[in-house]
Amino acid sequence: MEKDIVVQKFGGSSVANPERMKVVADRVISYKNHRQDVVVVVSAMGDTTDELIELVGQITDDPPKREMDMLMSTGEQISIAVLAMAIRTQGHAAISLTGAQVGIRTDKAHTRARIQRIETRRIKKALAAGNIVIVAGFQGVTYDDEITTLGRGGSDLTAVALAKALGAKVCEIYTDVEGIYTTDPRIERSARKIKQITFDEMLEMAALGAQVMQPRSIEVARRYNIPLHVRSSFSKEEGTMIVKETEKMEEVVVRGVTCNKNEAKITICSVPDKPGVAAKIFTEISKSGVNVDTIVQNVSHTRQTDISFTVPRGMLNQAIKSTNAIAKKIGGGEVLHDKNIARISIVGAGMRSHHGIAAKMFQVLAENKVNIEMITTSEISVSCIINQSQADQAVKALHKKFALDKVA
Ligand code: ADP
Ligand code: ASP
Ligand code: MG
Repeated sequence: MEKDIVVQKFGGSSVANPERMKVVADRVISYKNHRQDVVVVVSAMGDTTDELIELVGQITDDPPKREMDMLMSTGEQISIAVLAMAIRTQGHAAISLTGAQVGIRTDKAHTRARIQRIETRRIKKALAAGNIVIVAGFQGVTYDDEITTLGRGGSDLTAVALAKALGAKVCEIYTDVEGIYTTDPRIERSARKIKQITFDEMLEMAALGAQVMQPRSIEVARRYNIPLHVRSSFSKEEGTMIVKETEKMEEVVVRGVTCNKNEAKITICSVPDKPGVAAKIFTEISKSGVNVDTIVQNVSHTRQTDISFTVPRGMLNQAIKSTNAIAKKIGGGEVLHDKNIARISIVGAGMRSHHGIAAKMFQVLAENKVNIEMITTSEISVSCIINQSQADQAVKALHKKFALDKVA
């Protein structure tokens, strides 16, 4: 009879050193001893991925993406082998597999590839032979056998996609905090652990900067309704369940506050105010591979207007280049940029049925003398771009005003 499969993902801090690896090995083995088949997904040890990226920064500003993937995928390859050895040292059978060995097939978009198919044959065979199977997170392989990576935080996606492909009963995400909190506990110490959160809310929080889960992993979990348990690898406490619906879903108006300091703002001054201009600008920028987020166009009184938008900080140089080119073509003025911004957001499913929430947010920012540079809203969130130096203060004030330190 086939056993239940559990997928467990351990993030970088959970496997940062040999001691931590041994703790992970113990936990994985204890699941195995409860007659479950265990598939483990691991990230690179500690800050390895950041260090690899920094290394490249000393060589070039514009690294070829294929080679970036060759380099970044090595981090996870170290982790899987070390963990397999830690488990085997304790007398249990274990085998490590890279994304390519498993057959995690992706498209060709190096550094942010999408998973297209996962072959399960090799994993199932290894499980049937009694192994704990350890899979490298964050990586895949194209149909031409080129190694790809799935975007930062991509091991979360590997875990969720494997849980789906294998029909796992449980998907656990182990990290360095005890679950999803009302805001980043590194910024606000009174942040509270949330017992249950909906896929929609988690997706919104992740997309707006809560680094704890990769947004695309939540998209996949939502699409296939795979509940996720986010918990700490440092304790045995229950963490947060990310699920389709929660109790009292509509009652919680604001579930969390997020902060994203990884964006930059670009402004094109004096753009001719006529039909087709925005289309030209953003077609050109998207062709250069830059994802644009919030866009604001000022009201024009003079047939000219300023257009501002945000881009991921890591794409700023690329974005400035293509913006300068298109600004010239359309007869626009100077192109300015500002790295010193932050996006502060409030998120909650209850916003669908309550009003006045955005106004309350703006009021809090005003009381704290925070100037709002841009505003965007969705059904379940409100976001403001503000000066980065005031970001932490704004997060704390919003967390307090919406009584998130008091959530049961
Ligand atoms: P891992 O290496 O396990 O993938 P990450 O560093 O990607 O871990 O994510 C965990 C971190 O996310 C936490 O240390 C925490 O500081 C940060 N974080 C940001 N927002 C939140 C939140 N709302 N709840 C929990 N953690 C958060
Ligand atoms: N190691 C990769 C990163 O740091 C993937 C992950 O940790 O999820 O982004
Ligand atoms: Mg992560």
